[in-house]
Amino acid sequence: MATHVVIAGGGTAGSIIANLLARGLHREIQNGEVIIKVIDKEEKHMYQPALLYVVFDRFREDEMFKDMRDLLNPSVIFIHDEIEEFDLMQIL
Ligand SMILES: Cc1cc2nc3c(=O)[nH]c(=O)nc-3n(C[C@H](O)[C@H](O)[C@H](O)COP(=O)(O)OP(=O)(O)OC[C@H]3O[C@@H](n4cnc5c(N)ncnc54)[C@H](O)[C@@H]3O)c2cc1C
Repeated sequence: MATHVVIAGGGTAGSIIANLLARGLHREIQNGEVIIKVIDKEEKHMYQPALLYVVFDRFREDEMFKDMRDLLNPSVIFIHDEIEEFDLMQIL
């Protein structure tokens, strides 16, 4: 049975850890031993530091957003949904 890694949120932390895992576990993912999923309520990732530049007209608002799927390693499964709760009893 495959090990499922589910990452809550595809922001800076979630997307970096998903991509690092996808790179490090490339062989296991290819063999179907590991499945990595990212869940985010947004389909677009917002580059937060750009907010400062938008204020000073150095960045256009549309430049701040990138499609979440384009930021993730192709082997990572992206789920567009809102997380409502964590059932720790199910996880443990
Ligand atoms: C103006 C500004 C300037 C900054 N400048 C810098 C800088 O120069 N250098 C630096 O290192 N950092 C900077 N930061 C901070 C940096 O952007 C944050 O520390 C970083 O984005 C935090 O990453 P994170 O993954 O924890 O959260 P986020 O990047 O905010 O990601 C959280 C993700 O979780 C998702 N999410 C939330 N709730 C749910 C839910 N219930 N269900 C599903 N998905 C959900 C959100 O949609 C989001 O995609 C700046 C921040 C701001 C606002």
